[in-house]
Amino acid sequence: MSERIKTPRGTFDVLGEAALARAALEGTARGILERAGYERIETPTFEATALFARGVGESTDVVQKEMYTFDDGGGDSITLRPEGTAPVCRAYLEHGMHKLPQPVKLWYLSSFFRAERPQHGRYRQFWQIGAEAIGSDDPAVDAETILLLAEILEAIGVQARLRLSSLGTPDTRAEYKTELQAYLRAHEHALSGDVRDRIDLNPLRAFDADHAGTRQVMEGAPRLLDRLTDEDREHFEIVKALLDGAGLTYEIDTALVRGLDYYTRTVFEFTSDALGSQSGVGGGGRYDGLIEQIGGPHTPGMGWAAGVERMLLASPRQPVAPPPVDLYVAYAKPEYREEAFRLAADARRAGHATRLELGGRSLKGQLKQADRAGARYVAILGDEGTSLKDMESGEQKTVEPGTVMHHIRGTL
Ligand code: AMP
Repeated sequence: MSERIKTPRGTFDVLGEAALARAALEGTARGILERAGYERIETPTFEATALFARGVGESTDVVQKEMYTFDDGGGDSITLRPEGTAPVCRAYLEHGMHKLPQPVKLWYLSSFFRAERPQHGRYRQFWQIGAEAIGSDDPAVDAETILLLAEILEAIGVQARLRLSSLGTPDTRAEYKTELQAYLRAHEHALSGDVRDRIDLNPLRAFDADHAGTRQVMEGAPRLLDRLTDEDREHFEIVKALLDGAGLTYEIDTALVRGLDYYTRTVFEFTSDALGSQSGVGGGGRYDGLIEQIGGPHTPGMGWAAGVERMLLASPRQPVAPPPVDLYVAYAKPEYREEAFRLAADARRAGHATRLELGGRSLKGQLKQADRAGARYVAILGDEGTSLKDMESGEQKTVEPGTVMHHIRGTL
């Protein structure tokens, strides 16, 4: 026998109860998002590499180390999407969505790809539920999107902490970056090599470091939140007031730096202690400069993405019951197969969840299968005609052929 092929590192199959749990999560998220006016969007699994290089940012870990990038065979560089915001913004531009009433509110459930070191809660292909509201810089958009993710997490029983901050506008950030770079250089000796190497490129990431010396230095570092312009501060104050009004608790985290470059003003993250080291359940923020970076006019936007696997890991929900089976069609002899096949097809067409014996089992085996599937009714086709068994009451009666549906209708 030749060697068995397994799933690639960092990937997994979804089946059985896990598939049911995902479907339930999707249903919950869809209900909450669509009731808030979000419409579903699907974008391609791969995009032009430039979309992520420009949109997510050349200096980010995602772009520098984690993208699956390849030549499409015609000399163009394409990349398996590592995140969903840049593709949604690309679609907003491509379809002229600026002509629609703003903000345009879109949601997705898609898989994403990052060549990260796999561990519990961190995969190379993972799924995210995401929401984007594009075309308005109203702080109510920020508060509403955050609230929607909080609602989804609450609905699935995830206890998460909300951390909140504001990164201001690019100008403030640029000035602050210079100030932080000077501070980091003054403390260079105590920093990790990795952080030291990135003082020029991405000094903000120093806040993310695990290295003890770096962490100590960062405790005394100047904070961007203290450098915001009056306008940005006011925007942030309104976001906070709206969240307060909605009864959502959060903590201000002046060290909150998200891994993607495009964020401006509001940023936030939900974390759960149930997850161990990969504690981020979901997060996002405002990205008022992103659409310009990918070739569009200045267009504000705000959104988030939450990891499906992390939400399920952090959720204490009980296993989801499989969908019910209304009718199981069994037959005593092969000559009744055609009639059984027809009955099962008719029953399905009439909207009943119906199973038919497909494994060539004996009648006894078929009845066992019907029981295992939790079928409410079993129709048995045999020499004595058609009998119908109500599995709930145990009652069994002979019925006229062709009247099975008539008998079960109204009782399901
Ligand atoms: P990000 O797009 O990096 O802001 O991530 C948003 C959310 O997606 C995180 O909070 C995680 O829940 C999830 N996520 C990000 N990267 C991974 C990964 N490699 N594996 C599983 N989930 C991930």
